[in-house]
Amino acid sequence: MPPSRKVRSKTARAAGAPRAPKPPAKRAADRLAQAGKVNAALKQSYPDAACSLDYAGPLQLLVATILSAQCTDARVNKVTPGLFARYPDAQAFAAADPKELEAAVQSTGFYRNKARAIREACGDIVAKHGGQVPSTLEALTALRGVGRKTANVVLGNAFGTPGVVVDTHVGRLSNRLGLTKNKDPVKVEHDLMKLLPPQDWVAFGHRMIAHGRAFCKAPTPRCTGCPLDPVCHYPKRVYEDGVNCHRSEK
Ligand code: SF4
Repeated sequence: MPPSRKVRSKTARAAGAPRAPKPPAKRAADRLAQAGKVNAALKQSYPDAACSLDYAGPLQLLVATILSAQCTDARVNKVTPGLFARYPDAQAFAAADPKELEAAVQSTGFYRNKARAIREACGDIVAKHGGQVPSTLEALTALRGVGRKTANVVLGNAFGTPGVVVDTHVGRLSNRLGLTKNKDPVKVEHDLMKLLPPQDWVAFGHRMIAHGRAFCKAPTPRCTGCPLDPVCHYPKRVYEDGVNCHRSEK
């Protein structure tokens, strides 16, 4: 009786036979090629995608981005004109009465946390940066209440410094489109940075967000008419005619 596969493998290794080579280079090359296709399709479909928050300058974008967590940009844009008129600079936000600031941002949800984040970030901006929003990832993420996603939004849009923004849309779509297997936003960000040219990082984020809102929704994508369908291999694609992912072998 021939030895089992397990026994054969153990015997072979014991004899010094090399393990079967892993093919990381091929997988990396495949993923790079896939990123190129996705990036090109997004450029064609959403050529003008841009930040949909209304702002003038880094501070207003920082505040608007903090408010946009778990809230639509349209809702934030309704709140910010009055907010920015009432609190024109970092000093004003830092010195804001907590209850008054909470009331001003209440309609964006999670208002206590958001008001505190704005006050604390602006307090740090005043105390450590002379009232001016810093322009590096390290300094921005060192501000209380400012995470990596918010920092990258500010860097990319207000300072013109390339950064990959990974919000829920970008994270979800990056997985569905085969650009990463990671769920952690920071890991997804690093994966995307390896796959995309820096000059495309900011626009890529805007385009992915636009596509996530238009077609590739959570929890179920609407794949009928999706412009990225030709480059998508997501096994749970859903079409209006009830035909699911098995409709095509790409
Ligand atoms: S085909 Fe479906 S799953 Fe793939 S990108 Fe389009 S909407 Fe998303």
